[in-house]
Amino acid sequence: MKIRKLFSLVLVGVMAFALAACSPSGEAGTTTEAPSATKTESAPSTETAGDGKFVGVLMPTQSSQRWIQDGDNMKKQLEAKGYQVDLQYAEDVVENQVSQLENMVTKGVNVLVVASIDGEALTGVIQKAADAGIKIIAYDRLIRGSEHITYYATFDNFKVGVQQGSYIIDKLGLAEGKGPFNIELFGGSPDDNNAYFFYDGAMSVLQPYIDKGQLVVKSGQTGMDKVSTLRWDGATAQARMDNVLSANYSDGAKLDAVLSPYDGISIGILSSVKAVGYGTGDLAMPIITGQDAEVPSVKSIIAGEQAQTVFKDTRTLAEKTVEMVDAVLQGKEATVNDTTTYDNGVKVVPSFLCEPVSVDVNNYKEALIDSGYYTEDQLK
Ligand code: BGC
Repeated sequence: MKIRKLFSLVLVGVMAFALAACSPSGEAGTTTEAPSATKTESAPSTETAGDGKFVGVLMPTQSSQRWIQDGDNMKKQLEAKGYQVDLQYAEDVVENQVSQLENMVTKGVNVLVVASIDGEALTGVIQKAADAGIKIIAYDRLIRGSEHITYYATFDNFKVGVQQGSYIIDKLGLAEGKGPFNIELFGGSPDDNNAYFFYDGAMSVLQPYIDKGQLVVKSGQTGMDKVSTLRWDGATAQARMDNVLSANYSDGAKLDAVLSPYDGISIGILSSVKAVGYGTGDLAMPIITGQDAEVPSVKSIIAGEQAQTVFKDTRTLAEKTVEMVDAVLQGKEATVNDTTTYDNGVKVVPSFLCEPVSVDVNNYKEALIDSGYYTEDQLK
């Protein structure tokens, strides 16, 4: 225990140094416990490696609230079970994540929990981790191209898309035969396996109405090759929405709905449509979907701007992942509920899919406040 305390002190010291050395932009990625990549070598790792309860948790970015919550929940729940946690964020830079992973291998973690930035970019470093006997769990996003992914904890990603598409169908009254309405489509990052599931899920319900002419994509831009948004970036989505509006809607045509896969993208889309007058006078806001129930978007839903989001309870995801960590370290089988869907190109990864919940102004209180995810004050 004394050694552990000493180690903690060293960590705190090194962390203070690392923080002081950090640029304000935090470009090099961040860490909440272990020191930054360049400093880690000076930290002793033998005692942590020795006790077999050292977990490396890699998250993509702190620029989106959901990942901060994912990281916090993982750390809290793992620590409650006596694990030591090294939690790192890579600020959406793939090279940061690769070097964070390499450093965790050097530090001697026992398990890696990885929410990848680019699901195809980690094969080499995952191989190094596996060679060192480290177990790897994919968190929320599938890691592709590796046989060494023991488990995958995520949500029912196809269903997320179905919920977004179905919301648009309901609000426009498409099942009752209404239309035609104009819709534009946005997809997530093309290097994130989830993005295809979201898009395919949404299109599985929207496409029949496009085929019948009740929904019209005026820009003609359909398919992930045309509608994806690299790194889920809101500004990129806003720029694309600006272009789509000026090229296809300047003649007075009205945009009725926008399929958006993620709250950060929805915010970009909202800025774009508001700039040309939607939401004022007679020009009603298009129905804009989203995902993650991030605070700014829930506030926007309450204010009547964004219409919907999909709540993914990161507490549940962390719980399932911690169960997987326990299982791999004890040589036991973790509970999974899907053994067919997530083929990473080399193997079908046994997965646990948590349930997403569609949220709008009518049920946000029950889903987000009554469940203790947010306080009422946070949403004011
Ligand atoms: C996650 C979504 C999130 C998106 C952008 C996806 O991999 O599953 O919940 O909205 O990344 O961060």
